[in-house]
Amino acid sequence: MCHGKERTDIGLRFWVFVRKTGILSARILLYYKQRPSKEVDCGKMGVLFDIQRYSSHDGPGIRSTVFFKGCGLRCLWCHNPESFRPDKDLMYVPEACIGCGLCEQACASGAHVFDPAHRLDRSLCVRCGACAAACPAEALTCTGKEYTVGEVWEVLERDVPFYRSSGGGVTLSGGEVLLQPGFARDLLRRCREEGLHTAVDTAGFVPWTAFEDVLPFTDLFLYDVKAVTPEIHRQGTGRDNALILENYVRLIRSGARVWVRVPVVPGYSASVDEIRNIAEFLRENEPECVELLTFHRMAESKYRSLGMTYAMGDTKPPSAEEMEGYRAEMEKILDCEIRIG
Ligand code: SF4
Ligand code: SF4
Repeated sequence: MCHGKERTDIGLRFWVFVRKTGILSARILLYYKQRPSKEVDCGKMGVLFDIQRYSSHDGPGIRSTVFFKGCGLRCLWCHNPESFRPDKDLMYVPEACIGCGLCEQACASGAHVFDPAHRLDRSLCVRCGACAAACPAEALTCTGKEYTVGEVWEVLERDVPFYRSSGGGVTLSGGEVLLQPGFARDLLRRCREEGLHTAVDTAGFVPWTAFEDVLPFTDLFLYDVKAVTPEIHRQGTGRDNALILENYVRLIRSGARVWVRVPVVPGYSASVDEIRNIAEFLRENEPECVELLTFHRMAESKYRSLGMTYAMGDTKPPSAEEMEGYRAEMEKILDCEIRIG
């Protein structure tokens, strides 16, 4: 009897052991099946404010440019102030308003006031977007939307024949792409899987680890150098440039293909001295080419529609002759191609 009971206990313990380890193994197997794989689009969302098709300014050939929302810099001349904040923004163009009052009905915060003219009180707005959805005249628009990689790809894939025939591809721009490095990496990887050329436009004001995330899937970097003199950079962008310059050097030394973009802005980089300083900085780590981007005021109305002040006042763009002069100064110092854009 005693032996029989012992056998029963041993059998029971063995059965429990088998069950436990079996369940454990099943759980381990399940975990490995379900864990986020680096090879799979796991549904990560990115916040974007535009996807522009048929672009010819953001890398070689015909491209689609995907604009990421959120930026750590505050360049006074920025062409995309709707990119500054990482989430939604409400844009309002009073000239387009037809006075229907539907926004007032839609807004639970009481931000739309008719007394009797229509006024938007932004201090009450929580950026829910309800008024923009109700506005029949598109006087109100909500910018900033979450996308999955699959949703972005649905837009990008429409133009694959154009990318292929023109030597183009897809560029991620912003805002600052590398503030959403996981989503950027997944999107770039998807484009690569489809055999497309990929580019990342960055201002470089991010930790180096964000570059490491996207480097394996990026064919070309468009790298903004706004100024190398720290004081000029701080005045123009609100931030120090040490991290940006350090990341630039690391990027070149990693073997990446890089085009440098220099916005030529009166009062900031638009001086022979600063253009020479930038060229001297680049000489040690030359990019493939430098694009000198002529300042323009086309974004001024966007600032108004966001309720922001346009800090560039009535600053005039540099003339064509001045731009040629800056190009000539750079050519004295650098061997690479210098373009004016
Ligand atoms: S975004 Fe929302 S809170 Fe802001 S004004 Fe429109 S409805 Fe009101
Ligand atoms: S819904 Fe649009 S058009 Fe109508 S009052 Fe509001 S902003 Fe104007």
